Amino acid sequence: MARNSETDELVPPDRTLLGPGPSDAHPRVLKAMATPFVGYLDDYYVEVMDDVQELLRMLFCTDNEYTFAVSGTGSAAMETAFANLVEPGETVLVPSNGYFGDRMGQIAERAGGEVVTVDAPWGEPLDPDDVAAAFDRHEPTVFGFVHGETSTGARQTQIPELARIAHDHDAYVIADTVASLGGVEFRTDEWGVDVVYSGSQKCLSAPPGSSPITFNDRAVQKVHDREEPVRSWYLDLEGVWEYWGAERNYHHTGPTATTYALREALRMVEEEGLEDRWARHRRVAGALKAGVEAMGVPLNVDDDHWLPTLNPVQVPDGVDDGRVIDRLMDEHGIEIVGGLGALSGDIFRVGCMGNSARPENITHFIAAFGSILAEEGADVDSDAGAVAAARALEE
Ligand SMILES: *Cc1c(COP(=O)(O)O)cnc(C)c1O
Repeated sequence: MARNSETDELVPPDRTLLGPGPSDAHPRVLKAMATPFVGYLDDYYVEVMDDVQELLRMLFCTDNEYTFAVSGTGSAAMETAFANLVEPGETVLVPSNGYFGDRMGQIAERAGGEVVTVDAPWGEPLDPDDVAAAFDRHEPTVFGFVHGETSTGARQTQIPELARIAHDHDAYVIADTVASLGGVEFRTDEWGVDVVYSGSQKCLSAPPGSSPITFNDRAVQKVHDREEPVRSWYLDLEGVWEYWGAERNYHHTGPTATTYALREALRMVEEEGLEDRWARHRRVAGALKAGVEAMGVPLNVDDDHWLPTLNPVQVPDGVDDGRVIDRLMDEHGIEIVGGLGALSGDIFRVGCMGNSARPENITHFIAAFGSILAEEGADVDSDAGAVAAARALEE
């Protein structure tokens, strides 16, 4: 383990984080974390919370009042959404085409929901016709979907259609944007999604631990009208809102360091411009995609639902994926990961998120990946990959 041999202080190794998260934190974000802490109700901290909420509304493309950061990682935000919206005995519709859709189901069940699923092949988004059929059959009151399914690299498209189907049935829609918000277009209000949550360590490149979430008025009303209290004390929206709402009363201690860091990360989104940031992810990940394809290893996803922030690269025949992943780490300090579940052994998952989505990272990755694959016996043209990636980055 890397430590300073005299002081025993931690000296983390130099990594390029191109996995499904975390991504590389920007030095400005790290610096914000090292500034002095104040009390959780200090006027100064309250102003920081105000800033975070205003910046989150920009990020979510929403005017929702109930917009804040959950003290916890993306899964805590997921649990906040389902624990509040689902009452015991309600039917909850979730996707079964990926790992995080499955987690939604597990969480909804803990909240007392009766879980039903809508399927699509792993690597493809939900088809609105299948969602409509599932609504007619099960009449769920809550429907969750995953915008960027990190386990497969599929991007959910046709979101306004999905929301319309749910609303025609008087149901509520929850979107998981943990691996996409701030990297890929998502418009909460315009697309009609009732509750949207995300994470801090993926496309925002902040530390894990302060997770964006937003509830529209209709969803907040459902929470107010609950017959039974939310089963989680910590994540109960009405309790949390004592702190994040106008009252600013103690509910739990605000996580100072991650809140400072989130504010700085969000300021960087604002400076870059949200739409320019989406375009950067498309351009930089587009070079990654062009590079691997020119090498002869295609993505395991169709172009029309490609998710720039998470690229599922097919493992070439005869290659041991684990060896390639280990060699990238050992020889180049580059982190990528393998497939999960049904796609285990079939794909590499290469992230391109936030501060990791930089041209020099892609150039480095394509060169290292191409030469390792060739050495491992794959039939790839690594030079063609490097040329194609470089050309794409010039565009
Ligand atoms: C990472 C991820 C989560 C879980 O977030 P954690 O920060 O690991 O708790 C949920 N959904 C998606 C799509 C993710 O990529």
